[in-house]
Amino acid sequence: MSKEFSGLVAIVTGAGSGIGLEVARGLTERGARVFGFDINQGEMASVATFIKCDIGDAASVESAFAEFKKASSKLDILINNAGIGSLTTVEKETDEIWHKVLNINVVGTARVSRAAIALLRESKSAAIVNTASVAAIDGIPNRAAYSASKGAILSLTLAMATDHLADGIRVNAVNPATTDTPWVKKLLDQSPDAKAARSALESRQPMGRLVSPSEIASAIIFLASPVQASVTGTTLNVDGGMHSLRIPK
Ligand code: NAD
Repeated sequence: MSKEFSGLVAIVTGAGSGIGLEVARGLTERGARVFGFDINQGEMASVATFIKCDIGDAASVESAFAEFKKASSKLDILINNAGIGSLTTVEKETDEIWHKVLNINVVGTARVSRAAIALLRESKSAAIVNTASVAAIDGIPNRAAYSASKGAILSLTLAMATDHLADGIRVNAVNPATTDTPWVKKLLDQSPDAKAARSALESRQPMGRLVSPSEIASAIIFLASPVQASVTGTTLNVDGGMHSLRIPK
């Protein structure tokens, strides 16, 4: 395994489960020292140092960074991956749901980035990768607030990439399609016929299967890598062809 992250320090939000856990694992395997910011430690114990952090809460983000700075004087990589879903239409989504989803997915990403920028500015290999979604670029039913939040992440990625170009901080995003994580398992378990619901999700993606968390993680790691020193303001779709391919049935 290449050690291109050797000597680098990374924060991964949502590292306790799913995509974030695989990013933390991949960065650690490639030589980085990884801190997982999450509301739960989840499964990260062997791949990241857990720092309790609710990205939806300003005081929690502040105290997580205070704890982080006691353990590390530098930061090179920030992966803004933590997020929550909401499964309904604009007609049924209350203000409370909108505020919750936007506060965690969008303001949470901005909040953590704000706390990280000064440290990243000092790095020679500074990179931020934001986890968006194909829901940002394709109409997917019953995800109004979630889709809007992920669309905002793509716009925020471009704004941050522009604002921090001169600081030497690259900012990119990934758009996962449905990925086989505990998040999706929870959704399927709530469905009256989990098997049929899973096969509907699989057939929505031209490859006929869900994306694996490690496939998303390797795209995030690719964008975060110091080797990609010219890549900024880019979004990489990791979606089994969902966004671009039209396969006749
Ligand atoms: P997951 O539920 O498996 O993991 C999410 C992690 O985020 C959990 O460890 C959870 O504790 C943490 N988290 C939730 N709220 C938090 C908060 N307020 N502060 C800090 N941590 C918090 O989910 P996943 O499928 O790995 O999703 C990760 C990201 O990928 C999310 O941003 C999600 O929107 C995005 N995404 C997922 C899919 C998919 O199909 N799984 C598709 C597109 C995009």
